Amino acid sequence: MSTVIIRMGIRQSFLASFFNQIRWNTDPMARDIGQAGELLTARLRLVVIGILAINPIKSAIVSPTEPSNWIGLAVTFVAFLMIYLMARLAARRRPPRSLPWITSQLDVLYITVASVGFILGGQPLIAVNSFVHWSYYLLAIGATCLRHDPRLTIAATVAASVQQLLLGTYVFFKFPGITSAMYGFFVWDDQIGRVIAMIVMGTLACAIVIRNRQVWEMSVRDKLTGLHNRRFFDEFLEFKIIEFRREKTPLCLALLDADFFKRINDVHGHDAGDEVLIELGQRIAESFRSSDLVARWGGEEFAVVLARADLRAAYARLRVFQEELAKRPIKFGVTVSIGVACFPEDSDSPESLFKVADENLLKAKRGGRNTIVALNGM
Ligand code: GH3
Ligand code: MG
Ligand code: MG
Repeated sequence: MSTVIIRMGIRQSFLASFFNQIRWNTDPMARDIGQAGELLTARLRLVVIGILAINPIKSAIVSPTEPSNWIGLAVTFVAFLMIYLMARLAARRRPPRSLPWITSQLDVLYITVASVGFILGGQPLIAVNSFVHWSYYLLAIGATCLRHDPRLTIAATVAASVQQLLLGTYVFFKFPGITSAMYGFFVWDDQIGRVIAMIVMGTLACAIVIRNRQVWEMSVRDKLTGLHNRRFFDEFLEFKIIEFRREKTPLCLALLDADFFKRINDVHGHDAGDEVLIELGQRIAESFRSSDLVARWGGEEFAVVLARADLRAAYARLRVFQEELAKRPIKFGVTVSIGVACFPEDSDSPESLFKVADENLLKAKRGGRNTIVALNGM
């Protein structure tokens, strides 16, 4: 995934940034953040429905002969059951991919269903004119921010706007000239104004999601090479080891260190050294699969997680990389020494996997550089 070097910054246009965000969604760590947001939203929803249930329960007890009170209570009860089910699904280790799409659309739909309840209960002006009731659409759109996916925000905004317009059209034709002391009368300008406010809210929510993601991206990427940084790499490796331990899948860790890099800085200056690091980072990133992770480990060292590769496969791929570097050298003919450690043979904890890879890297340096050292001195 790190092979896609995305340079995020404030200079990027909103549209370019938006399309980058959509691509961002294929990143497993990003999905993990969205999943945590889904669970948080599910819990918030349970709190909200608990608070919202107080009013219909009270109304049904105080005025049991009023049919609209029972409609309100029934809608609340069905909503509670669905919200509870969604919270159970969100708490699963692997919730369905479609869950945030379904829940964000249902959040909007509940409000419309309650409006339909008001219409059926003989109070159509509450459905289209009540400010308090309508403001829940804004909350449903705003809550999509927690899922960290601008597509969900757009879909919720479109759904809320269309449903508001459909309700308005129905009430306009079905109840012409209807008025109410509390909710006034039907005015199209007001309905359009509400839709515009929802679109503004949706745009704002999208901007918040995109900005949050940019800040997150900045915190997990190395500024010079655009590759993921050590902080992200550590989390990724831990995440993968937990997953692969369960699936009994192998994984190899390779540490790559540029040979005699200090000389380049000393002879040609730091800017030339930086250029070499950028080029080397790109060449490493290009050489591995999109399911692998390439990161700048620090200084002139890079780290690669070769997912679903055993020692033999990892060694072969690293050897091809070194041969490619020899055939098509980068500036100043830089070579790299590589230390490899494999899960589960060498270790099954990220820390000791690093220790083994680092020891092997040291052996590669002592053994004359531009070489690979792995288990059994392969
Ligand atoms: P060896 O073959 O043993 O690895 O030798 P080396 O010279 O590569 O290793 P050493 O650890 O002695 O030096 C690493 C150098 O990398 C020193 C440091 O200034 C340079 N370096 C680290 N980060 C950067 C960077 O971001 N830009 C530049 N230009 N140089 C860097
Ligand atoms: Mg070094
Ligand atoms: Mg070095």
